[in-house]
Amino acid sequence: MDQGGPRARRPVRVDDLGDLLPAARSLWGYVWAGPNSLVGLVGALTTRTRPVRWRGVLLFEDADSGLARFLRWRGFTAITLGHVIVANRPLSDGLLAHELEHVAQAERWGPLYYPAYLLGSVRGYRRNPFERAARRTATVIQTALEERSRGRRD
Ligand SMILES: [Zn+2]
Repeated sequence: MDQGGPRARRPVRVDDLGDLLPAARSLWGYVWAGPNSLVGLVGALTTRTRPVRWRGVLLFEDADSGLARFLRWRGFTAITLGHVIVANRPLSDGLLAHELEHVAQAERWGPLYYPAYLLGSVRGYRRNPFERAARRTATVIQTALEERSRGRRD
């Protein structure tokens, strides 16, 4: 019997983001966004994909059926529902940063997040303030990554 060695746990998704993003989430965040994550788990089940752990969230990446197929059909790559991320292809570090900002938003808004997000989409997906914030985060992270790789070369 394995007493919880590293091999017994779910595999961990590795990234190049280091300390640019938090490595874990708060307990309160899991509780407050719990209903959102439950919706995410139900959606993720339809992808029949094995999740990996990544920075305190469950990542269903490169999925092909169910919710992932629906996303592709609608022209989207990924969706974040609480602490669950479903994506129909492997995500770049920039997209991972974008989705993790949605996790932070869900932790702030809890069960109010979905209605608030829908309300924010009234003037279109691109103008949704939650999406704008997530795009800003991704840009900041990408800039930091580029600066870091430049620094490495010098
Ligand atoms: Zn987004």
